[in-house]
Amino acid sequence: MYCTAAKNAEKTNSLKDSAIIWFRNNLRTQDNKTLVEASKHKQLIAVYTISPNLFKKNKYGFTKLGKYRAKFLLESLRDLKEQLKTYNISLICKVALPEQLLPELIKKYKINTLYLQEEWTQEEEDELTEVVKKAPEHLQIVQFKDQFLYHPNAIPFKDYAQIPDVFTNFRKKVEKYAQVNYLQSTPNTLDKENLIITNAIPDFGDLGFDEFETDPRSAFPFKGGSKNAHERLHYYLWESNAITKYKETRNGLLGPDYSSKLSAWLANGSISAREVFWEVKKYEKERTKNQSTYWLIFELLWRDYFKYISLKHNNKIFQLGGILNKHYDWNRDKKTLNQWVGGCTKEPFVNANMKELAQTGFMSNRGRQNVASYWAKSLLQDWRYGAAYFEEMLIDYDVHSNWCNWLYVSGVGNDPRDRKFNIALQADRYDPKKEYQNQWI
Ligand SMILES: Cc1cc2nc3c(=O)[nH]c(=O)nc-3n(C[C@H](O)[C@H](O)[C@H](O)COP(=O)(O)OP(=O)(O)OC[C@H]3O[C@@H](n4cnc5c(N)ncnc54)[C@H](O)[C@@H]3O)c2cc1C
Repeated sequence: MYCTAAKNAEKTNSLKDSAIIWFRNNLRTQDNKTLVEASKHKQLIAVYTISPNLFKKNKYGFTKLGKYRAKFLLESLRDLKEQLKTYNISLICKVALPEQLLPELIKKYKINTLYLQEEWTQEEEDELTEVVKKAPEHLQIVQFKDQFLYHPNAIPFKDYAQIPDVFTNFRKKVEKYAQVNYLQSTPNTLDKENLIITNAIPDFGDLGFDEFETDPRSAFPFKGGSKNAHERLHYYLWESNAITKYKETRNGLLGPDYSSKLSAWLANGSISAREVFWEVKKYEKERTKNQSTYWLIFELLWRDYFKYISLKHNNKIFQLGGILNKHYDWNRDKKTLNQWVGGCTKEPFVNANMKELAQTGFMSNRGRQNVASYWAKSLLQDWRYGAAYFEEMLIDYDVHSNWCNWLYVSGVGNDPRDRKFNIALQADRYDPKKEYQNQWI
């Protein structure tokens, strides 16, 4: 936990009991440490801001929030609003810069404490800095790193500098010495009078998007919100037992059940990694335990690992030389970029995957590895353009998972073997009958 007075704090009793919880990537009411702590206040308002900066083109020519994730986000927020209502907590959600909306609310409602899940990447840190600059002197900031499976206090490394740069070394030590925390208790229900503000969640059109139909070929009908996340988890374990074959199916390309499809909910925190972990443990105890059930947890460890790599290397994860400071002769060719994005390269397997991404906002892990390797290692193009395109498009975009996987595949990250994919061989192996390619091209 990080707790500080924003500026010289001088608490007064009248302010003591009013707080705001600023939701970011923790859009749930269950197993949410930040909410549990914030709900100990007498008065609590929940806030979510959709920054207009997300819709501006960045230096790579892409925005930071495309239509698939935007739709999923609004669904998640509507669900969160309903959940919060049961605790008599209002959610204010607006398209606004955090540094505009939050200080205004802090002053208006005489708030003395701001709770949030701690994010450490530059843009998120900058947002908080700006909020603090404009907030009244007395404001206290309370933050929790609650997005991990294995909490930073639980892992067997003295500090982030000691995080191994090889995943296996990290995993083995964590599995041997660390414990996953139990789920958080439910938040306190506040007095009815706390539910004072009504504010509708913005519409899709308010974000500047046109309505669209989900492509019927979509691998999975993603729908935001904790309720849907739990239903999917329940289905993948208890109803279908698909988890018992996960290790064999996880490199699949077609259909809803070759992998868990939990990524989009995990990314915006509609479900926590701990909730998935403990449900798998329950399933293993009551139904079946095998290599596949273990493997889902193994993948969640990759998710944690990249968060720790980002804590260790900070902004290097966004830089061309990556965490290795390695220099290659990268190209930046607009035509090549358009061909890759549009699925018009010389490799049909890459094209099929890129079309799936453009049409649905999702791509399998196997597909992601191939298209990224092709972009960075075969076409020798600046890998950050690829990562930035994924950031706009992916329904499950997560800053650490995206940028660190890109580093990994591009030879400037944590792959000790620095592999390059043979795309034709990969297509033969994972799509031998070309069913996947025929579906998309
Ligand atoms: C270039 C590239 C970019 C990627 N960008 C993202 C991203 O922005 N967001 C994201 O969630 N995943 C990303 N991944 C990882 C992985 O492809 C997706 O997590 C996975 O395909 C999502 O489908 P699923 O939920 O069915 O995964 P499952 O196979 O069911 O895995 C279960 C969970 O484990 C985690 N996980 C699995 N593989 C990885 C991995 N390699 N790295 C980190 N976590 C993992 C995810 O949270 C996933 O939901 C990326 C991979 C590559 C190669």
